[in-house]
Amino acid sequence: MAEILTHPSRIKVPYTWSAGEALSRFFKALRDEQKILGSRCPKCRKVYAPPKKTCGICFVECSEWLEVGPTGTLISFSQASYSSPAHRSPKPLFGLIRLEGADTALLHLLGETNLQNLKIGMKVVPVFAPNRTGSILDIAYFRVQP
Ligand SMILES: [Zn+2]
Repeated sequence: MAEILTHPSRIKVPYTWSAGEALSRFFKALRDEQKILGSRCPKCRKVYAPPKKTCGICFVECSEWLEVGPTGTLISFSQASYSSPAHRSPKPLFGLIRLEGADTALLHLLGETNLQNLKIGMKVVPVFAPNRTGSILDIAYFRVQP
């Protein structure tokens, strides 16, 4: 058999992800109204933020919509030791944030602070991006509430 050679390479594939019904509504509210929406399960009353189309516990449609936040509670936080195209800070801070009125938490960037100043239970508020495009980064980051 002939020897088969290999050459390491990298494939870059363009990809368009569908946000679906629930997240599209969520992203449009961020973009157009600077509001954060959640969806509520009519059976167990759990409020998902970011919203879900279907409750993962009851398997029924989360048909109720409500505004949550904007204030949230910092549930946990961490600092990455590298940046990425979506997170250009050299050492981005991430927070797990439960917005007022929600039962779930949202993972997002934290800004205008540093790791040493953060404490679990702190109140944080969103800082909206000046140019919003209908993505989670329409909230530029959360900052500690003064
Ligand atoms: Zn439910």
